[in-house]
Amino acid sequence: MTMKPILEAKNLLTSPKKIFITTHHKPDGDAIGSMLALHHYLQIKGHHVYSVAPSEVPEFLEWLPGVQQVINYEAQATEAQTALHNADIIFCLDFNDFSRTKLLEPLLAAATAPKLLIDHHLFPKPVWDFGTSRPEKSSTCEMVYDYINEMGDNALINLDIAKCLYTGAMTDTGSFRFPCTSGDVHRMIADLLDKGLVQGPIHEAVYDSWSADRMRFVGYSLIEKMELFPKWSAGIIAISRKDLKLFGLNTGDTEGLVQYPLSVRGISFSTLITERSDEVKLSFRSKGDFNVNEFARTHFQGGGHFNASGGKSSESLNDTILRFKQILSEFHPR
Ligand code: 5GP
Ligand code: MN
Repeated sequence: MTMKPILEAKNLLTSPKKIFITTHHKPDGDAIGSMLALHHYLQIKGHHVYSVAPSEVPEFLEWLPGVQQVINYEAQATEAQTALHNADIIFCLDFNDFSRTKLLEPLLAAATAPKLLIDHHLFPKPVWDFGTSRPEKSSTCEMVYDYINEMGDNALINLDIAKCLYTGAMTDTGSFRFPCTSGDVHRMIADLLDKGLVQGPIHEAVYDSWSADRMRFVGYSLIEKMELFPKWSAGIIAISRKDLKLFGLNTGDTEGLVQYPLSVRGISFSTLITERSDEVKLSFRSKGDFNVNEFARTHFQGGGHFNASGGKSSESLNDTILRFKQILSEFHPR
């Protein structure tokens, strides 16, 4: 199926429709931010909107405007299924392969309503009727902003939408420092600020709202769990379920940990390996010209972006660590 440009779906939206929006499993700031920004926009346009996250919204995003309307598939499956079944249109945000929605995958694949994609990951699966896929874009939030503008609706961007868009752009750009932070991103932020957005409280809500245990856990991870391999410009942090339990944390609290090894001089490839209840999850980050998207695809059934990707392993945590180190010793990132 070839995906038609998203603006060609404009006439599907001329009368009030039932719209189902979803995003990826274990949603992050860009996933929930883009979903809620689009949710608010489509509601203003007169549609009935149902936003479904495949798993729960993490605590650091619980302040986002409209978040109480998000249906968590893991907790409210029937409600989500009814919304999907009744939907006239399906929007998929911040993922490009149904498998990234875990339990929703078979339902999305079987759904017959037109499917629209807004996403910035590499290599979209050819399963959407309409969409926009732009890996060079900083965030899905930036793309939702572009979409609203291209629909001629910039004037409809209110403070709720602005807060959601800012959050996803901020989290996906590492607070506006990654190379994807283009002039367009700064022009969008300027527009949001001109519309009255105050950014300080957003940074505080997302980054300065940790529990003391989570902060101590970072210290523990850096001292006890981080291994550096200067020969390969690489660093890894491996976290077991026992480690998380020790601090009373859950897997969401490892967010951001993967960045730390990159702050060491000479390290340009970082990997976080986390033991989850059903699988071992890997997060990859790089600086410069090492393609972690390709690395994730080749070795760990994953994908993502050039400098940020993820994958998984069905082996034990220890076997995954061993296999990773073996690959590292053969596969030189530089
Ligand atoms: P994170 O490390 O923050 O979980 O993910 C980094 C990036 O890689 C995100 O853009 C995410 O969508 C992508 N990603 C993470 N895990 C997977 C995976 O298992 N498969 C694919 N295709 N992409 C992933
Ligand atoms: Mn994103």
